[in-house]
Amino acid sequence: MYTHKLGPRAEYREKQGVRVAAAPCLAEKYRKLKSLTVNVGYYAPTGTIKYRDLTYDVNLHHAKSVFRLDCANDECVQGDFDLTEELAAATAKRAKTVAGELCCKGWQNKASIKKIKCNHVLRYKLKLGY
Ligand SMILES: [Zn+2]
Repeated sequence: MYTHKLGPRAEYREKQGVRVAAAPCLAEKYRKLKSLTVNVGYYAPTGTIKYRDLTYDVNLHHAKSVFRLDCANDECVQGDFDLTEELAAATAKRAKTVAGELCCKGWQNKASIKKIKCNHVLRYKLKLGY
């Protein structure tokens, strides 16, 4: 049997990393997409306390089309945020801006697996150019 020396958190991140690496880059997947600017706000579980806010231009030739952002909770297990579907839906209808909120579906920490959800919040705004 295959046993892993990593904890559940690292193991999950590693699996997701493999999935991301195997995906085509954004430029390849969405040929009409010419630019993508991401603005994200990371919030505590209630959505009222903001940890940080960042805005950046995505390099479409480097960023993968499986588009994941790490959860702000350093001990989160099997969570994180995935904007892959949001991006696919936005480019399909040539949307220029998309905004929304995602709630982390992971576990709060290693000790709370299957007991307490992480529930950290990500508020995002995507600006797309074609
Ligand atoms: Zn989380």
